[in-house]
Amino acid sequence: MHCELKKMTNGEVLKIFEASGGLLSGHFLLTSGRHSDRYMQCAKLFVDPEHAEQLCAALAQKLKGVDIGMIASPAIGGIVMGYALARQLGVKNIFAERNAEGRMEFRRGFSVKPNERVLVVEDVVTTGGSVREVLDLVRASGGAATGAACIVDRSAGRVDLGCPLYSLLSMEIPSWEATACPICKAGGPPLVKPGSRK
Ligand SMILES: [Zn+2]
Repeated sequence: MHCELKKMTNGEVLKIFEASGGLLSGHFLLTSGRHSDRYMQCAKLFVDPEHAEQLCAALAQKLKGVDIGMIASPAIGGIVMGYALARQLGVKNIFAERNAEGRMEFRRGFSVKPNERVLVVEDVVTTGGSVREVLDLVRASGGAATGAACIVDRSAGRVDLGCPLYSLLSMEIPSWEATACPICKAGGPPLVKPGSRK
């Protein structure tokens, strides 16, 4: 395993994003009905294990000095990244999943030791909803929530989890109401609904 000691710049992270197809440029119709010129699919970063390793090695650098006993992540988005980051940090890794009532819980025999220092990991944080739920679950299970980590903080530092959030890239993607979309106004490329099947 190669581990570069230098810090990865935002440009380098974005280069991996583009190489993986995780960041598309164009004219997109979001689920909210708004239009955007970029679309992010974070899961694509983990299709190539080499990309996943590079990003998680860089994030592990940022986490130097943080006391971490284990990683817990929300299913499904955080599972692969949790594993990849745990590998870099040399710690154990578990994940939480929703039960029939929609609440996060540890299943499959997963548990947190009393006062274990737990880092909650998710690939992308926007509102921080599921990360916050897993942080609460960790505390309710007797563990200590050390903080949270993600590849992309899409709130650009605005989300408040009640603990530190470590991110590799802090980035807000602008979007507009359809009537105010500058791409539509400029007669740009046709509108695409990302993720939809042809
Ligand atoms: Zn538009």
